[in-house]
Amino acid sequence: MQISELSNIEFYRGQTFAITGPVHSEKTLDSILLNNRINIHTPYRSLMFTNDINSRDGKDRVASAAGLESGAKTVPASNPWKILDFIEQEQARETLDAHGKKGELHVIIFDECNFYSSDFIDVIDRIRLIYSKIILILTGLNYNFRREQFGIMGWANSNAKKIELESNCKVAKWGKPCGKLTQYTARFINFEKYKAPVKPVDLIDKYGNLLKQQFSFDMFFSPTIIVEETDDEKKKNEENKGRIYSVACLEHFQLPFEKETKDIHLFIREEYKKTQHPVKLETVKNEFKKTQPLDNILTFLTSERGVMFSEDSFSLRTFYKGVGEGHYTPAQLNNGIYMPGLEKEFV
Ligand SMILES: [Zn+2]
Repeated sequence: MQISELSNIEFYRGQTFAITGPVHSEKTLDSILLNNRINIHTPYRSLMFTNDINSRDGKDRVASAAGLESGAKTVPASNPWKILDFIEQEQARETLDAHGKKGELHVIIFDECNFYSSDFIDVIDRIRLIYSKIILILTGLNYNFRREQFGIMGWANSNAKKIELESNCKVAKWGKPCGKLTQYTARFINFEKYKAPVKPVDLIDKYGNLLKQQFSFDMFFSPTIIVEETDDEKKKNEENKGRIYSVACLEHFQLPFEKETKDIHLFIREEYKKTQHPVKLETVKNEFKKTQPLDNILTFLTSERGVMFSEDSFSLRTFYKGVGEGHYTPAQLNNGIYMPGLEKEFV
């Protein structure tokens, strides 16, 4: 289905769509074009929302990777309820907006939905109850850099009509990008800068430069959300960034330390269930003596995976927002996190 087809308002009234895909699949560009098409070329009104994780400068706008921008209301990702207040205000608008329109909204486009807290699901449900005829479009990354469902997009993909975009694998062989179309976003870490214990690969950056053995695939235990540094528009080269979000097909995809992280997580869970007692740090250290970044993995498990650390032992959190792993953006935890003086920090 062509995204521009959603400008046929009368035909799609009351429906909810999820537009998903990896980075560089032009989700935002297509959304901006649709928003413009409706506001400029039809008698209907469309509104865009983004959130404060995506919009680093807090300005009310969205920008596509290719640089096309559009006005959009920025709301806090951690408090999506603000969306309802703004919709109510816009519905009651008596003065003309930038396109010379006021009153009833027909389409609402939400950009970067993957970053919203799980409250977003209730907000969408509420909008559906109050404004049953509005067309809702939820765009966002389908998967995080670990190929897990990203934030609320797993929910969106199964509850809305899904339109899935793809983009081209940027891993290079003999100096040329692989190019295979894929759904997966990969995150690369600057090998020179972080000395991560992972072999670097060749990569084509978004400006077309070959970055030869300068970046490796990021490690499974790195934080889910790390905002990419802003591009240096003059240099047109991504080589100096700490991390790059890009695209990799399944043939080239790597997730270093996935098995080690999952083995340790499973060990703590099983030991805890078996003994009904917190698992001593010493026990974990003995069991996984040979696992190199053990401390980093334990920090990850206690900050993003429902394991809790206190009094030198690991237990399981009784309530963890986002029970299914990777299905929700991790709640901000401020206790029970294992924080040794890390020998090697990768953030
Ligand atoms: Zn590939």
